[in-house]
Amino acid sequence: MARKIFFTPGPSQLYFTAEEHLKRGLSEQIPSISHRSSQFQSIFQEARSNLRELLDIPEHFDIFFLASATEAWERIIQNLVQHTSHHIFNGSFGKRFFEIADAYGIDATKTEAAPGQPFDDIDIPGESEVISITQNETSVGFFFPEDRISDIRKNHPQAIIALDVVSSVPVAPIPFDTIDTAYFSVQKSFGLPAGLGVWIVNDRCVARAEQLLSQDQVIGSYHSLPSLKKTGDKNQTPETPNVLDIYLLANVARDMNIKGIDVIRREAKYKSTLTYQLYQENDHLEPFVGQQEFRSPTVMVGKTNSRAKELIQFIGEKGLVIGSGYGPFKKDHIRIANFPTHSKEQFELLIDLISTFNS
Ligand SMILES: *Cc1c(COP(=O)(O)O)cnc(C)c1O
Repeated sequence: MARKIFFTPGPSQLYFTAEEHLKRGLSEQIPSISHRSSQFQSIFQEARSNLRELLDIPEHFDIFFLASATEAWERIIQNLVQHTSHHIFNGSFGKRFFEIADAYGIDATKTEAAPGQPFDDIDIPGESEVISITQNETSVGFFFPEDRISDIRKNHPQAIIALDVVSSVPVAPIPFDTIDTAYFSVQKSFGLPAGLGVWIVNDRCVARAEQLLSQDQVIGSYHSLPSLKKTGDKNQTPETPNVLDIYLLANVARDMNIKGIDVIRREAKYKSTLTYQLYQENDHLEPFVGQQEFRSPTVMVGKTNSRAKELIQFIGEKGLVIGSGYGPFKKDHIRIANFPTHSKEQFELLIDLISTFNS
């Protein structure tokens, strides 16, 4: 079967070196090693230090491994909230976190804008313990700019600000000065097999979890922050983790460091500019997010007139796979992922092909 190129937002195309690392990982029998061995400890340590370098993670932030970003949502509620959390969202992923908080029985409040629309007025209750923001709302291609996060930080110095960076990392910098925790899963922009989540927390989060624990709150068991920290300090995890994926992450993060984050960001800018230009110039398409400052650099959502399926099929015949609209937008939107694995040449090919659609 001819190889496809996946421009889907997630799972997406594997990072271009992932296959080689996967083959080597199998020949080194990584899936069979003990997660208590020193070999595992050095893989764990390397994954963390390569990520720290790539994402410029400050010293007072720690890095833990979970199963997914969805798991991070539940862990944030368990470990960091006693009574209330506030959720700012305009798309399905931010909303999902709100629903999980609500299902957990805490008092979850929200600032909700229509899908992909900017937030006019963000009114956050003063007692909110956690404030949730989605840096890149993958469902609609909306990006939450850094200066808006700083404004929220200024008005709520005590709250823990949790940032979902699933589909923006490492292209968009994580504003560590203004947030307390960030999380992602690896099957989107890192281009790795699904089944691994990364949870980055500062020391305030760890202290908060310990405080709740000392007040006899249930904060979860094996993946509570104190448990993750206790094992993490030994370069281990509480459970048997996805060792192969941690191995791949260590290697792919190293490759990205060698390529250089500046080059990755410059290329991303070129590819997103090409795509938004196409959306603006093509008769069948327009950018879904109107204002440029809110347009995602990594998941470019285009609006079609109920022709998404036809367009996706047309491109698919040439082996290029793009995403359909999310949820209610299935028929009207296309979503194109712009991740570090996607080369400039692949993007030029894709954009050229879309421009020949029905012309
Ligand atoms: C995909 C996605 C998630 C959920 O990730 P899982 O790996 O499925 O848990 C959360 N937030 C955003 C913004 C996403 O794109």
